[in-house]
Amino acid sequence: MAATLAGSRIKSSEKKTLGLTLTNKDFAYPDTKLYVDGVWRESYEGAAIDVIDPASGRAIGKVALASINDLDAALESTERGFAVWSDTSAFERSGLMRRAADILRSRVDATAHMLTREQGKPLPEAKGEILAAADVIDWFAEEARRTYGQHIPSRSSGVTQMTIKMPVGPVAAFTPWNFPINQAVRKLAGALAAGCSIILKAPEETPASPAELVRAFVDAGLPSGVINLVFGEPAQISTHLVTHPTIQKISFTGSTAVGKELAALAGRHMKLATMELGGHAPVIVCADADIASAVKVLVASKYLNAGQVCVSPTRFLVQDDVYDGFVDAFVDASRSRHIGNGMELGTQMGPLANDRRIAMLETLIEDAVGHGGHVRTGGHRIGNEGFFFEPTVLGDVQTGARIMNEEPFGPICVINRFSTLNEAIEEANRLPYGLASFGFTQSSRNAHEIAMRVRSGMTTINHNGLALPEVPFGGIMESGHGTEGGSVAIEAYLYTKLITSAAH
Ligand code: NAD
Repeated sequence: MAATLAGSRIKSSEKKTLGLTLTNKDFAYPDTKLYVDGVWRESYEGAAIDVIDPASGRAIGKVALASINDLDAALESTERGFAVWSDTSAFERSGLMRRAADILRSRVDATAHMLTREQGKPLPEAKGEILAAADVIDWFAEEARRTYGQHIPSRSSGVTQMTIKMPVGPVAAFTPWNFPINQAVRKLAGALAAGCSIILKAPEETPASPAELVRAFVDAGLPSGVINLVFGEPAQISTHLVTHPTIQKISFTGSTAVGKELAALAGRHMKLATMELGGHAPVIVCADADIASAVKVLVASKYLNAGQVCVSPTRFLVQDDVYDGFVDAFVDASRSRHIGNGMELGTQMGPLANDRRIAMLETLIEDAVGHGGHVRTGGHRIGNEGFFFEPTVLGDVQTGARIMNEEPFGPICVINRFSTLNEAIEEANRLPYGLASFGFTQSSRNAHEIAMRVRSGMTTINHNGLALPEVPFGGIMESGHGTEGGSVAIEAYLYTKLITSAAH
């Protein structure tokens, strides 16, 4: 049985999702404006583009596009915002952030509706993303009150030496369309907790939900200028902001190719940079693993957000003895996923966020088959309305195939086999990416080997424990640098200042 379109199995009388009806009457999709210097407004030149619903391929609203004049207004505003916010006590900043988190939670239904309409993910996933974002704000609100310095014993009596943590200055952040709220909140909350102002360039494809995130801070009482929100032509905006003397730090989430360009630009202008880039997560399943549990965890992780996740499990390596059983179980579970409009009850996977991804997946699959790969299930677009794609499993793909080297960013994985753990670790470490890695084993020795020897910023063993606010989130090598979670994340927005004073 092929993966099913969820909507086709559900009677219209049942088309209710966690308290939301499917009519757009209650939750109309809004046009999205810029938020510059405390005002929601169109761009000065009036430019705007359509926002497309990936479930239908049709336009559902518009987003305003900033011109250079709008960016200059945002830059002046962020300077003023920084002066006010960096002078606001950590205690007050923390309280305001907590209020924003509560406001975001209180609007979860309406915001989830917008997020699903513009991005495609199932409504429960959209709700989960918003509630997780509120937890991220709470986490950083607490961290704001713990940016401790040090007292350093001096060489002379009468000399006091200490360090304090200071906000680095106005930040420019660039976030993508796969988690429109969660990618933005890590940057917003980190910057605000540290006392920085921030200009956020959120994704043009999915603008309304990040605008709602910003609105939660505005309605919590954030002073004007502390957050400015812009959309526009990505390269024009990043070039203007990264090179501008007002901006002291940039933070980017997106592809490795774009990340390299922005990091190079930041380097030329001596700007601090955090880069959360692509991955190609290896998954090592040892013969001693609990296979049923591994399949359950991996199916849920693989098809989350239709696979458009930087930590999505991609290159499965399964030990010979359990290979056939694992593949059969994973293929069965993949086929029974319900694919459909994210607004419909029972949908487990929505469409891809844009049609570029479909063309890319089709190219990767054709190339993999040319490299000896077998399509074990899926491999095709579903229908011709919207951007739906089948959960796809490829087996026995040679390492020269593109999909073994490029992040597929879709509901597709490769399952290859290995005989010794050394072999699997060698393959896991073959690529220059180092974001997430997965291991499944009941042996503590194997778990230790995987954890210590697979090169990645994050290794999760026997479960998917990634992306909680309190744990680090970030990669190494071509997956970028810096971390956006845990107690170290706020450091990205702080510098250490020495104060040494001699008594008269
Ligand atoms: P892309 O490389 O064109 O864009 C990725 C993101 O970067 C988008 O949000 C885009 O608006 C932004 N961007 C592009 N050029 C920019 C520039 N010069 N300055 C500032 N921002 C810029 O690719 P895409 O088709 O949107 O996405 C495909 C690839 O991007 C995926 O294969 C994946 O590797 C990567 N991606 C990664 C993440 C992540 O979470 N790390 C998220 C989305 C996309």
